[in-house]
Amino acid sequence: TTEGEAYVTLVTSDAYVVGALVLAQSLRRSGTTRPLVCLATSHLAADCVASLRELYDVRFVAPLDSGDEHSLRLLGRPELGQTFTKIQLWTLTDLKKAVFLDADMMVLKNIDDLFEREEFSACADVGWPDCFNSGLFVCKPNLDTFNGLWKLAQTQGSFDGKISAISLFFYLPAFERNKNEVRAVHFIGSTKPWHFSRFSDGQVAARGDGTKVHLEYVQMWWNLHDEFIKPKAR
Ligand code: UDP
Ligand code: MN
Repeated sequence: TTEGEAYVTLVTSDAYVVGALVLAQSLRRSGTTRPLVCLATSHLAADCVASLRELYDVRFVAPLDSGDEHSLRLLGRPELGQTFTKIQLWTLTDLKKAVFLDADMMVLKNIDDLFEREEFSACADVGWPDCFNSGLFVCKPNLDTFNGLWKLAQTQGSFDGKISAISLFFYLPAFERNKNEVRAVHFIGSTKPWHFSRFSDGQVAARGDGTKVHLEYVQMWWNLHDEFIKPKAR
């Protein structure tokens, strides 16, 4: 039975709402029947919450900050402190199992088989320190786990990095060979699909700032956006 299973994402600021909306459409298009849950903080504007509610079961959680200013400074991503709100996924104890996805992800093909995986499952992040990418993972909400993670953050802080941001570009031949098997895309880094400008025909414009990204996927993201999101906004 799939009861108690859900896809969960996180939105702590208005800028990421559009990401969550496109993610939801991509999940729906993948043919999943699992419910979609969105962790949100009270920072969000009322109209943002309303548009999320059309696609998600929105659950408000307290904004948590890793409080690790030092590490975020090293990383050059001060906005990432609030991503720690994510660990409150473990407080959703009405869920037996959750597949978490960052709001900057897009699903290309059905990933429901991930619900068969055990806690904790995630993809290895390429490079040192060889942990995992927190953009997509499988877990079982549990208050003891939540408390443990929160305590760990208070005592140890965070130490991961952003080495994987250009990983695909080191492995282009392998990517070309296996790209048909790609089922989910994570737009990591500070430049997100919604930051790209486009020509009047909808074509995504390459950025002149050296941002390394597969424009093909950014285009797919925008096509989904145009198909499902924009008509509603009008
Ligand atoms: N997030 C958010 N608002 C922010 C920053 C982050 O809602 O201002 C959430 C969102 O779900 C996002 C996740 O936290 O996908 C992790 O941040 P991000 O994806 O920017 O980190 P990256 O994947 O680039 O390391
Ligand atoms: Mn992300």
